[in-house]
This record gives sequence, C-alpha cells and structure tokens, in this order.
Amino acid sequence: MPRLIRSFTSLSFLIALLAGLTVATAQGQEDSVEIEKVVDGIYMITGRGGNIGLSVGDDTAFLIDDKFAPMTENIMAAVATVTDKPVEFVINTHWHGDHVGGNENFGKAGTVILSHDNVRKRMAAPDARRVGDGREPYPDDALPIITFDSAVTFHLNGQTFRAYHPPRAHTDGDAIIHFESHNVIHMGDVFFSGLYPFIDIASGGSVDGFIAAMEGGLALADEDTKIIPGHGPLSSKEDLAASIAMLKEVKRRVAAGIASGKSLEDLLADEPLADLEEAWAWRFINGKRIYTAVYNDLSSAGE
Ligand SMILES: [Zn+2]
Repeated sequence: MPRLIRSFTSLSFLIALLAGLTVATAQGQEDSVEIEKVVDGIYMITGRGGNIGLSVGDDTAFLIDDKFAPMTENIMAAVATVTDKPVEFVINTHWHGDHVGGNENFGKAGTVILSHDNVRKRMAAPDARRVGDGREPYPDDALPIITFDSAVTFHLNGQTFRAYHPPRAHTDGDAIIHFESHNVIHMGDVFFSGLYPFIDIASGGSVDGFIAAMEGGLALADEDTKIIPGHGPLSSKEDLAASIAMLKEVKRRVAAGIASGKSLEDLLADEPLADLEEAWAWRFINGKRIYTAVYNDLSSAGE
C-alpha cells in the first residue's frame, strides 16, 4: 500500500483513540464526522455532505462516497475505529461535490476510485467545478479510474455487493449499491430520507427516472433491509416508500397545474405544496424549489 495511506491510518488510530467515535479535529466542528454500525461489516459515516457507506472485513476497507476534501482525515480516523485495513476502494454514487470532494486525497494515496461512466465525464469537463472566479475540471487524481455503464459486482470482505446504474434519476451517472449478502442498500442521492429530493435536471436527472430508481430500490428491500440514503438518517423500506409516495404526489399536483394552463408564477402563488412543507422542506429544497424543478422537467418533456 502507498505510504500515505499507512501514515493516515496510524495517525487516524491515535486521533480515534483520543476522540472516540465522534471525530473532531482542529479543522473545526463543521468537518467532524460520526460512524454508525449498519450491520456487521457495514457502516455509515455521517456529517456535512452526502452519507458515506463503508464495507470492512478481512480483505480491505471500501468506501461509498467521500464527502468534502477537508474531511478526509476525519473520515480516515472514523474508518480506523472499526478496521486497521487501508481504504483501497472508493465508489462514487454520482458526481456532486459533497460526494466526490475527497477523491483527490484518496486518489493521490493510491485508492482505486470507481463510478458510472458519466461521473468521470462530468468531473473531467472544463467547467466541472468552481475554482476562485472561474471553473475548472477536477484534477486527474480525483477522477475515477474504473468506470462502468450498467453494473459491477464486488466480492470482498465476505460480502457480495452490486453497484448498478438507474438511468436519469438524481443525475445521469447515479449508482445504487446493493449488499445482496447483507440486506443493505446505499441509494446515493436517489433517496433523500424525510426530505424533498434535489433532482439535478441540468446533470441529466429527471422526475420519472428518480421515481423509477426509488421504486427499483424498494423492490430489493424487505422489512429488515437497512437503507443508507444520500442525505438523512439510516432508513427502512417504509421510509423509502413514504418518499416515493411524496414525490408521486408532488408530480401529480404539478401535472395538474400544467394542465390548468396557469403560469408557474400563478401556480406557486397558490402554495400548491403547503400541506407537505412541514414534513419535507429543508434548508436546500423547499416546496417552491421542488415544484419548480418538477414543473420545468415535465413541461420540457412534453415539448
Ligand atoms: Zn447529489
């Protein structure tokens, strides 16, 4: 293993011993993370940005997503509380910065980064991310070096898990990771648990694809399935079903609004999602924003 990983790991052990399971460093509370056991060998790491999944066992440490770059050391410290194996793999569930932000650090340390084909394409584009006043592609070290178009299966840590691509859902490069052997699913941002979802139409996402992808995850689940959402707490089949019902209801109301012939402004003035706000709105996505996203998607799809 590359030397950087080893030094990360030993330093991480020390930090973890000092800090316990909640790992905070001088970088500040906003970059702290917490690790929670999902089932034997599978963990969820929470904190700012997208939820991380972690597979550990006799073979390696395998991460699903890696939050933001300044959090890498805290993530490594959290991993080190449950395994002494180095992080040899990271799979990205999609290309958003709060899920791929640590890629450069991990890539430089020799971690193999994997994703759907379109994650690498979008990260390598000249306007991929904001840097200062301009936009730049991600550096080579941050790019996934193994990409897939529909699915790939891993046989590691005594687990069998499959990453598969639901088309045009949150983006056009999503991966859902199904731990078939352990009845765990990491949905990436195709599931915002208890929250209105962000549907990134500009990155190739769509409302119908989002609903279909959630229903695909639901079909893999039973009453005992643990579901790691991209955002929100560790969830159940019931939570996923509630999210699907909510988004279908939003879509139904938007479709009725479009059919009425009113402008988007007039429709929003009627507060069409008022009764859903308390349960589902959050800092980033309120009813106006989800309604507008679904409206724009459905009206452009009809053209
Ligand atoms: Zn996202």
